[in-house]
Amino acid sequence: MIENIRLSGLGRHFQRGEMEVQALHGIDLSIAPGEFLALVGPSGSGKSTLLNLLGGLDRPSDGQLWLDGLPLHTANDKERTEHRRHRVGFIFQSFNLLPRLTALENVAIPLTLAGVGKSEREARAAKMLEQVGLGHRMDHYPAEMSGGEQQRTAVARALIHSPSLILADEPTGNLDSTTGNEVMALLKKLNSEQGITLIVVTHDADVAAFADRIVRLKDGTIAEVVQNSRDEAATTARTEPSPFSPPTNSGLRIRDIVRSAFRNLGRRPVRNILTAGGVLIGIITLVAMVSFGVGVQLEVQRNFETLGLENIFVSPQFDETDEFEPFAQPKPLTPLTPDVASRIRALAGVKSVQPTLELPSGLDVSMAVNGEVFPVRLLQGTGQMQFGPPGATDMAAGSDFTEALTSGAVLVSGLADTLLAEGESYQDLLGQSIDLELRLPRGETDSFPTRIIGIRNGFGSRSIDIGLDERADIKSWWFGQPDILETEGYDRLVVEADDIDTVPQLIEIIESLDLQTQSLGSMLDVANQVLSLLQVLLGSVGGLALLVAALGVANTMMMAIYERTREIGVLKALGASSAEIRWLFTSEAGLIGLGGGAIGLLLGTLLGQLVDWIAHRYLINEGVTGVGQLSVVPLWLALGSMVFATVIGIIAGLYPAARAARLDPVTALRHE
Ligand code: ADP
Ligand code: MG
Repeated sequence: MIENIRLSGLGRHFQRGEMEVQALHGIDLSIAPGEFLALVGPSGSGKSTLLNLLGGLDRPSDGQLWLDGLPLHTANDKERTEHRRHRVGFIFQSFNLLPRLTALENVAIPLTLAGVGKSEREARAAKMLEQVGLGHRMDHYPAEMSGGEQQRTAVARALIHSPSLILADEPTGNLDSTTGNEVMALLKKLNSEQGITLIVVTHDADVAAFADRIVRLKDGTIAEVVQNSRDEAATTARTEPSPFSPPTNSGLRIRDIVRSAFRNLGRRPVRNILTAGGVLIGIITLVAMVSFGVGVQLEVQRNFETLGLENIFVSPQFDETDEFEPFAQPKPLTPLTPDVASRIRALAGVKSVQPTLELPSGLDVSMAVNGEVFPVRLLQGTGQMQFGPPGATDMAAGSDFTEALTSGAVLVSGLADTLLAEGESYQDLLGQSIDLELRLPRGETDSFPTRIIGIRNGFGSRSIDIGLDERADIKSWWFGQPDILETEGYDRLVVEADDIDTVPQLIEIIESLDLQTQSLGSMLDVANQVLSLLQVLLGSVGGLALLVAALGVANTMMMAIYERTREIGVLKALGASSAEIRWLFTSEAGLIGLGGGAIGLLLGTLLGQLVDWIAHRYLINEGVTGVGQLSVVPLWLALGSMVFATVIGIIAGLYPAARAARLDPVTALRHE
């Protein structure tokens, strides 16, 4: 139970410009537990200042203030917050109910701040409202109640956490005398029945008449103390315990912080939606652009993978220091002879080596089958193997060339069709002998016999692919060099590694042989770097929008704090700590960010889909098919953008929230 309240030499001065205002000085006073004290005196005599000191809302400039064994004159912020939260109930002249909360919720605030769960605190608040005769007004908002009802609600709020000290600053000042007397009678009853120490500031002699003792202040000092006759019956009743045990000290719950944040955001829906709109636009841009970057990157990766990331393309290196000779064939440093090819084949980690021989352009080729002659077109470029792993080409019949199968002819299906007799199938063409008839531009002709080994599905009706052996023969004939492979070598080798991871090692070894290499992996790295850079650039546009959005959030929070300054003062008086005030505002800012982020993510994804759809329409119009999804929102982007938006909100709210937390409760309570 509370001990004596002891004030000795207590003083409080304010600096107002150059002047020092002595609001209180040299106050010596003892207040007994359960006493009802009235503080009277003219306006400006220091009554409110004294009350604020007793409530731990303010610190004395000098002297001592002992309360329940606690030296309030030296107590730190945390101790004073505890003091307010557990032992003090404040009642104000202007009621100071929070306008957006019902009577029930207003009464429950001190319990909310003490971390009591919703159902328990509302049950207690309901009981308390019944005690003050407002059982029928629980769901009413302050604006729907009369002054007397509001003040009775405030009394219930001051009592809900079973304080040992009630501080009331002109509680009847805004009430007519009848209602004022009702409220005073209620306070007096609580004081005498529950032994709560009651200190009431008043101008009203009628009110003062309720008190055990009247202390009159004048110019910041005690001018007079009047002892009223005490009601003995009430004194004996004072031992009656208060109806509720004081709440435990767990502090404001996260759930209540979030609930309050939602409610407060709902107070200014238009403003907060507009503010969140800034975040939303930033996140839409960010998500749409990055998702497109990711999609394109995945598509490129996928295409490269089907081409074979484990392939290394080896070509000879030409000596560039040589003098320029216009008509001479450039000489490779290391020709890609069959010997070199088999040396590479023998390297550890090499799965296969596929040589390529290009044929001179301008060859006039026709194909003779059973005396019939068809003009054909020799496939150029990669020669034996297309890009991609063996077997990747789509065979209609027979087999394609492999590392071991290097001779024969593979016909495109359209050409094979023209060879088919009635009732024949592709299968019947396999093994058939054909003659390739070549004519040089200078008129020489020659014929090269071979046989059909496979039919490849594909476009065109003239294309024919021939094996390495045939190519070597033709090339030798063309250049008049029988040992052309030994001297000039192949044009290119496609070296397939066992594993993508061994590709870099193999490249190193092969390059040490004075050969040039190219791998899809290295090309993919470059492509990825370019795409990543692009993604960062695109993302930065969204980031910039978010920066602007952050300024909007900060601005909104500053306005909210200005509007709610008085509310912050009330919450502090009711026991909210600075940290809790900071959390309340930070979480509002975070919620604005999260809200904008979530909707932005949704709209950004949809926008990405739309752009994707348009891109596909366009590509299909241009004759490009088989392109995959170009806008992809991976989980990391979805989560990342929401977290990012929330963090932006929180960061934007940090400074405003810190300002709210720093507000001096006494100043905040004076704010209109
Ligand atoms: P009362 O409640 O008795 O009317 P107050 O305690 O509010 O008087 O004020 C006592 C004196 O201290 C007044 O002169 C008032 O102007 C001054 N005062 C109170 N608070 C402040 C403050 N925060 N800054 C400057 N002067 C103040
Ligand atoms: Mg006052």
